Amino acid sequence: MPEAAFTTCPYCGVGCGVEVTREADGWKVRGDDAHPANLGRLCSKGAALGETLSPDGRLLYPEIGGQRVNWDTALDAVADGFRQVIEKHGPQAVAFYVSGQLLTEDYYVANKLMKGFIGSANIDTNSRLCMSSAVAAYKRAFGTDTVPVCYEDLEQADLVVFAGSNAAWAHPVLYQRVAAAKRKRPHMKIAVIDPRRTATSDIADWHVALKPGSDAVLLDGLLVHLADAGKLDETFIAAHTEGFDAALDAARAAAPTLDAVAAACELDPHLLAGFYAAFTDTEKVVTLWSQGLNQSSSGVDKGNAVINLHLATGRIGRPGMGPFSITGQPNAMGGREVGGLANQLAAHMDFAPADVDRVRRFWNAPRIAAAPGLKAVDLFQAVTSGAVKAVWIVATNPAFSLPEADAVRAGLAGCELVVVSDCVRDTDTVREAHIRLPALGWGEKGGTVTNSERCISRVRPFLDPAGEARPDWWMFAEVGRRLGYADAFDFADEAAVFREYADMTNFENDDTRDLRLGPLATLDTAAYADLQPVQWPLADDGTSRARLFADGRFYHPDRRARFVAVTPRPPARAANGADTLVLNTGRLRDQWHSMSRTAKTARLTAHRPEPFVEVHPDDARRLHLADGGLAHLLGADGEMLARVRLDDGQRPGSVFVPMHWSDAHARRARVNALLGTITDPISGQPEFKHAPVVVAPWRPHWQAFLLSRQRLADLPGEYACEVRAKGHWRYELAGDGKPADWGVWVHDTLRGSGEWLEYADPTGGRFRAARLRDGRLEAAAFVARGDSTLPERDWLGRMYAEDHIDDAARMSLLVGRPGKGMVDAGQSVCSCFSVGLNTIIEAIREHDLQTPEAIGALLQAGTNCGSCVPELRRIIAETRVAG
Ligand code: SF4
Repeated sequence: MPEAAFTTCPYCGVGCGVEVTREADGWKVRGDDAHPANLGRLCSKGAALGETLSPDGRLLYPEIGGQRVNWDTALDAVADGFRQVIEKHGPQAVAFYVSGQLLTEDYYVANKLMKGFIGSANIDTNSRLCMSSAVAAYKRAFGTDTVPVCYEDLEQADLVVFAGSNAAWAHPVLYQRVAAAKRKRPHMKIAVIDPRRTATSDIADWHVALKPGSDAVLLDGLLVHLADAGKLDETFIAAHTEGFDAALDAARAAAPTLDAVAAACELDPHLLAGFYAAFTDTEKVVTLWSQGLNQSSSGVDKGNAVINLHLATGRIGRPGMGPFSITGQPNAMGGREVGGLANQLAAHMDFAPADVDRVRRFWNAPRIAAAPGLKAVDLFQAVTSGAVKAVWIVATNPAFSLPEADAVRAGLAGCELVVVSDCVRDTDTVREAHIRLPALGWGEKGGTVTNSERCISRVRPFLDPAGEARPDWWMFAEVGRRLGYADAFDFADEAAVFREYADMTNFENDDTRDLRLGPLATLDTAAYADLQPVQWPLADDGTSRARLFADGRFYHPDRRARFVAVTPRPPARAANGADTLVLNTGRLRDQWHSMSRTAKTARLTAHRPEPFVEVHPDDARRLHLADGGLAHLLGADGEMLARVRLDDGQRPGSVFVPMHWSDAHARRARVNALLGTITDPISGQPEFKHAPVVVAPWRPHWQAFLLSRQRLADLPGEYACEVRAKGHWRYELAGDGKPADWGVWVHDTLRGSGEWLEYADPTGGRFRAARLRDGRLEAAAFVARGDSTLPERDWLGRMYAEDHIDDAARMSLLVGRPGKGMVDAGQSVCSCFSVGLNTIIEAIREHDLQTPEAIGALLQAGTNCGSCVPELRRIIAETRVAG
């Protein structure tokens, strides 16, 4: 294995280039200066990649029924299982559910096997949950699933509109590029359309905090405003589009006047007028949208409402302008290219008879699927109903991530054959698997990914495989061979897979499809290994195009784009803002999906260690929710527990819960268990951004936290959360039923040799204990009644770095307060330099710091990835108001 590698970050759709080098104290990760996506930058997650490479938690060997087996046995069992179901029930009774985490080569082989050779299109991807509405919107408008812009457009625009996107946290490096461009060109304007004030709003000239779910009215109103202001590009509309009049009529019916829009969206008319005027009067506009629009029961229409604006003004295909949906996952785009969605064939071909025939001939496929398969939500409902009897789930965790997650888990439990390939040993889904296949993880696997600007980058291995882990594409190829298709799956390596895929993009293309990889189809293995980031489409001479459609030629048969008439539809399930609040879900700055990697590093867990619900202070008062207390959330389809965080950036009547906690890290904290299976009728994307929920205080009889150098298991409490901290594990617990004797329980749970310190106050319900060994802190427990407070965690956690716990520190352990000279830095704000909230507040007060730059100069916070800068600005404002 090499001592260094240039590879690609495995997290978000920005697709940053990463340079990894082996140094004396482990792998070091830095941004690749030459990669066009990030030009050397990394966010907090990317910067911490080197700390996530440990083999702990990995699935290392194939298993059947929990027993280790060899690869041949496991693959034979998979092939036999699928064959038997297909023979008995037909190909529609089997399915694959794959992931935007897969590399393009993995995706390609999985898709080829299912659609070309098994003969079913029942392969869908978890990208269905994040960008399938944008795919459908592009296809309706352009006749192709093509993002027409590039990242540089965001820097060259005079107005960037973030619509339903908290890019500062979800796509941090791209957001930092925009923020830097705005610093350089202060006349550049930013608008953020989001009910919530997020970190992205930090640089906004207009924060359009609209009523949740009213986006389509806002966008329709803007189309009307452009028309009434005489700012349409009539020439472009006439020469290159169809359907404008119907789209404008629909918009007028829904949003006739600015005042009507302001009323429907519950916005200040002056703010709305300012935003509309800016959009109308600015030529170079990029509208970047993300899950806030996509994860809706009318997400496709919302995407088309955005695209309508750019078609109406001809602002597409030229520098600094265009509609831009950004993908959530590192290779959601690659999946779109090779047919990872159940309603696509590979290489941007569909289920039109001519496409089916072309793919059949290219693959020499005996029984190619001729019709779309089941989309994610439908697929797992089919598992539950028994219509799908064998499912292979790859690199994703649907028992956690799909709506009605409890029902998905129950469906898997009753399924005849569940195969899971993953690099992680314990997820909600892996627990349900009959056959487990260990997959290579990041750092071990090689292939390509495509980021949100159509840039293909190499993912390169630099680590030996963990245990017997193998590539995902190899597993599919091996099963394909065992099913009798050896010739079609005779790939020597991932380079061979890539060549075949690239060749397919060129096959009978004749400019009927813009996805073309041209000369990449003939890359030899060495050239593939050395492939530098490159954007598609590629001409035969290798020239690539950063932007599309400047020539007004689209990919409908008549080469004209389509306006779509958008009649806004409200969210499927209403909340009244009083008894029921609007539940919105999303990502955190320092976590990735179900945290299987990001929770491995204390730097990242420190920012938001526990599952939480963010509530506006007015709602909290009304509902008797205390900041830092626990809340019970009841949705139509499930319930959860979460810590309460007050945030006046929340829109009253709405709450926000992060998506990340699964059963592997917390008890009763899976937010998707609350959400119903409401989906967009075209894309099948779930409505994750709008669900009615009842939020009430949850007052346990007792609460506790434990600190331990050893990982613990089987802890009590209705609420339980495990947090990786520096040098130790931390467990937050709360419940009603409790152990008969805390002292006995703590000794049993934190058992080990050494000296015990103990304090008990049975009347006050308090119990504290610590175990020291050789002068160092080994474990500690702090128990209190449910209505009292527990000590702060930061200063206690810091004791794990001490070689000797002195008498003063022992006393602090017993009284639960930091002693003189002990630092309580508070909850982490800057993950890169581990700078806590208390440290920052103290510095602001002591040195009268007024800017994030001043904080950075003193404490380093915010000077590396910059992801915490919006938070620093907010802390400055709050500290100065508080005096
Ligand atoms: S923005 Fe962060 S998470 Fe996204 S690709 Fe770049 S480093 Fe990775």
